[in-house]
Amino acid sequence: MPLQALRGTTDLLGEEVKRWSVVEHTAHRIAQVYGYQELRTPLIEDASLFLRSVGETTDIIQKEMFRFEDRGGHDIALRPEGTASVVRAYLEHNLHKTDGFAKLFYLGPMFRAERPQAGRFRQFHQYGVEAIGSESPWVDVEVITLCLHILRECGLTGAVVWLSSMGCRNDQQRSAQLLRERLMKGKPKLCKECQARFEKNVFRVLDCKNPTCHEIAWRSKVSPFVLCEACAAHFDEVRRGLREASVSFDDTKIFTRGLDYYTRTVFEVRATGLGAQDAVAAGGRYDHLVEELGGPSMGAVGFAAGIERVLMAVDHGRAEAAPMANRRRGVYLAVATPSLIGEGFRFVQQLREHGVCAVMDYDGKSLKSQLREADKANCQLVAILGEAEVKQRAITLKDLEQGSQETVSFDAFVDEVSRELKTLCQR
Ligand code: ATP
Ligand code: MG
Repeated sequence: MPLQALRGTTDLLGEEVKRWSVVEHTAHRIAQVYGYQELRTPLIEDASLFLRSVGETTDIIQKEMFRFEDRGGHDIALRPEGTASVVRAYLEHNLHKTDGFAKLFYLGPMFRAERPQAGRFRQFHQYGVEAIGSESPWVDVEVITLCLHILRECGLTGAVVWLSSMGCRNDQQRSAQLLRERLMKGKPKLCKECQARFEKNVFRVLDCKNPTCHEIAWRSKVSPFVLCEACAAHFDEVRRGLREASVSFDDTKIFTRGLDYYTRTVFEVRATGLGAQDAVAAGGRYDHLVEELGGPSMGAVGFAAGIERVLMAVDHGRAEAAPMANRRRGVYLAVATPSLIGEGFRFVQQLREHGVCAVMDYDGKSLKSQLREADKANCQLVAILGEAEVKQRAITLKDLEQGSQETVSFDAFVDEVSRELKTLCQR
């Protein structure tokens, strides 16, 4: 049996990888438009980074994190999410001293040992941003607007934003007490894990997958969070800002985020039609994380989107299912006889120097099979170099999309191809 990729991991190739590339480039480009600079962090980190930030009683840490001891006995984790690493890097490189307010963008694989199913993988991919160093509600507005802008540019329509506030740490303490009182009657029926969570971190009972716990935890249709005056005002400002930015949201949904670092604003972007895995992006404020990881006290907010889910949602919403990146591109240079490969290569190279995607065959295939390959490779143009053409110092240029054909002189060839490909792009 040949070896296969591990369950919950996938190879990306062919058309699929082009669609990914469109999402990745779009995310990066729009993030730059909003002033976010890319940051790349390692895939492995000291496990304690996630214990301290995501939280020891969360499912991510208790059940989902890939964790191992290296030969030197260090406790290592494959990163399950991006925020903790970004904040670690922000502090490690003293951005709090040099930049103060920093707007960072990241993209890459994350790892969680979950049961693989549609839209849920063990290696999945996120892009996201973190705006570190401000408590202004306008930054929340910016982050949510950016999150939606990227999704829209990727072709996702019909996504809805669930918006809520979890309040400050004081509010959360009060809320935890209220939640305990609310759950007290059902407590004996909670699973063993939830019994422990009840005391340690009662909010995590809300994430339990056990149906009985879930029923008890969500029986009351009231938000588990109570807000102090300052947090209520902050939340009002976020909502006002979003309305001004014409971003619609639903603040009536009751939900929690399964990571401990959140405070105040939290949101999820949900796509319709994806079943249980309908959260394409999620985020919120984490005003204490920088301090908890050893930095000064400063507000921060961010989001992460799952690329697999974004693509699923785009597919679902696209009835005509036109592949996103399936446009003809570049030029295939076909030679009538193998003796012209050298001549052809010179042209191909010139085109490449001009930034034009140009390919050719080096194995002496027949002209017919070269033309077939050009079509298979999805090229826009085929340039045919034959002996008669070489004598006239000219090349035949065929447009595979239009079905048209013309003869171009050697001297005009590179310019002509570059021009045609540009107009094709604009069409
Ligand atoms: P879920 O509720 O679906 O488990 P989550 O709350 O655990 O999501 P976050 O940690 O907030 O997810 O991650 C943000 C986004 O990353 C999610 O909205 C989703 O799009 C994506 N994501 C999270 N876990 C996975 C996974 N195992 N496979 C694919 N995508 C994922
Ligand atoms: Mg999860």
